Amino acid sequence: MALEKQRFDTLIMGAGGAGLNAALQLANANLKVAVVSKVFPTRSHTVAAQGGVNAALANVLPDNWHWHMFDTVKGSDYLGDQDAIEYMCREAIPTVYELEHNGVPFSRLTNGKIYQRAFGGQSQNFGGEQAARTCAAADRTGHAILHTLYQQNIRAKTHFYDEYFAVDLIRDDEGYVLGALVLNIATGEPLLIESKTALLATGGCGQVFRTTSNAHINTGDGMAMALRAGLPLMDMEFFQFHPTGIAGKGMLITEGVRGEGGYLINKDGDRFMEKYAPNAKDLASRDVVARSIVTEVREGNGVGPEADHVLLKVNHLGEEVIAKRLPGIRESSKIFAGVDPVKDPIPVFPTAHYVMGGIPTDRFGRVMPTADDDGDHLPGLYAAGECACASVHGANRLGGNSLLDILVFGRLAGHNIIEYVKDNTAHRPLDEASVEKAVSRLQRWDAKGDGITVSQLRNEFRKTMEDHAGVFRVEDMMADGVEKVKRLREKLSEVRLTDHSSTFNTNRTEALELENLIDVGLSIAVSALHRKESRGAHSRPDYPKRDDVDWMKHTLYWKENDRLDYKGVRAQPLTVESFPPKERVY
Ligand SMILES: Cc1cc2nc3c(=O)[nH]c(=O)nc-3n(C[C@H](O)[C@H](O)[C@H](O)COP(=O)(O)OP(=O)(O)OC[C@H]3O[C@@H](n4cnc5c(N)ncnc54)[C@H](O)[C@@H]3O)c2cc1C
Repeated sequence: MALEKQRFDTLIMGAGGAGLNAALQLANANLKVAVVSKVFPTRSHTVAAQGGVNAALANVLPDNWHWHMFDTVKGSDYLGDQDAIEYMCREAIPTVYELEHNGVPFSRLTNGKIYQRAFGGQSQNFGGEQAARTCAAADRTGHAILHTLYQQNIRAKTHFYDEYFAVDLIRDDEGYVLGALVLNIATGEPLLIESKTALLATGGCGQVFRTTSNAHINTGDGMAMALRAGLPLMDMEFFQFHPTGIAGKGMLITEGVRGEGGYLINKDGDRFMEKYAPNAKDLASRDVVARSIVTEVREGNGVGPEADHVLLKVNHLGEEVIAKRLPGIRESSKIFAGVDPVKDPIPVFPTAHYVMGGIPTDRFGRVMPTADDDGDHLPGLYAAGECACASVHGANRLGGNSLLDILVFGRLAGHNIIEYVKDNTAHRPLDEASVEKAVSRLQRWDAKGDGITVSQLRNEFRKTMEDHAGVFRVEDMMADGVEKVKRLREKLSEVRLTDHSSTFNTNRTEALELENLIDVGLSIAVSALHRKESRGAHSRPDYPKRDDVDWMKHTLYWKENDRLDYKGVRAQPLTVESFPPKERVY
């Protein structure tokens, strides 16, 4: 069968905020750009972001980017790279204004300026008052941003491949990326997209865990593609559990609820965060609040017949504020928890939310394939958004900093790709062996016969991850988890599709996603087992302290032999003094 081929200057995999903001720069520069997305672009997970995007605009209270930078470094438990953090916090301000000018309908203050709300981990330096740094369009900020960026891309004539599934990167012997093999979901036909550069912007991998706030599509495909191409993933042990998922279901109740004045209570109605974070209380950073909830429940203070969750009280804000600032939350609570927050508190428990780690990049979005700090970056390959690790979030991400990360680094990757294409004007010759490998991986799923189903293995895998790599982690539990996931990885060869049709075969894409999930899950489990300290979201009761002597370093994981290596933290910012590590209290 002859493989259909198409050529572009740049191939972008992913049409979330990161992919679309990169595509917009490229299309505006008149490059020929293809965006591949396994769902219609405006269904990317960015659309689900509720709370907002951080920028020190100082519209509500005094603020500046340097404080934003400090909060982010502290929030990262000092594992974030301070040059990238400085860049992001400075760029936040023009980035939000650019969004506004592109048409994002932000909520407004009475003076007409962009509305900003308080979010977790924002400084309290200002006369005891919390900063209000999170720019919001009600509780549908991601929706507003994604639709605006999509429309701007349509105007700029970006070429979209909607509902195409990226299978594998194509590389040559010298390491250059030559494009990717993708699958047309509607027809089941493969397509080879050749490009001079490629950007991975495939988003997160929350589906690794059973209870998650993430969409079904967040299966870590780009990260797994990087692993299969021989590249490492960085800091994968740092996975954020959002404190307030709807109990037993996982759907998100934004931190914006606490930003607007909502608070957590236990079975006695006590506002328990006063005990765990006396200053910031309910607006301490996410890792702190999530651990406090789990501890409350473990100590027998949980609510409900199983005493397995806590409550988020909002009704004191009044119906008017809820209708204006949190309409989506009211709707989700009614649908998924059967509770109207105007009358009753919402049952909540931590839910898997965000991966701080990802494909290692430098501050310019270029993929860094080695543990050498000054090592070469990979020619022609870029990564941005949740699948990448720049690393601005270190061991714990602050709310509102991910939309910012995807927009700032998506845009920057776009600009750097424009420069790259100026110097690399021709397509390099195709590497047939690499194409062959990708095609045969796809064809493996044509095998018929008896076996286990995709959903059987997926359910077992996601439960294993939840049980062995959750909010609290101890040595034996994790070692056991690694062995179990390795066994599940071997079991993949026994999985068979139950549907072999070509048209919209979701069974096939789910199988490809399962392979990706397991590869990424193992990177999380192995990296977590080896980090013997507690830092940010990685919490080990057997090593309860942060250990800056031995562990102030990034983890790198390679798929081959499940190998690990470590790399230094870039503690030197671009223009200001470094923030030295301090104890992190809220
Ligand atoms: C419920 C929820 C609420 C959130 N709220 C906030 C918030 O208020 N503020 C904040 O800062 N952050 C928030 N976050 C985090 C933030 O929204 C995400 O980290 C961010 O939107 C990710 O953007 P992205 O562009 O990297 O990826 P995504 O928006 O996830 O897009 C990924 C894209 O990759 C494509 N893709 C993936 N795999 C393949 C493949 N194999 N082939 C082809 N295409 C593929 C998808 O189709 C999609 O287009 C929230 C997250 C969730 C889940």
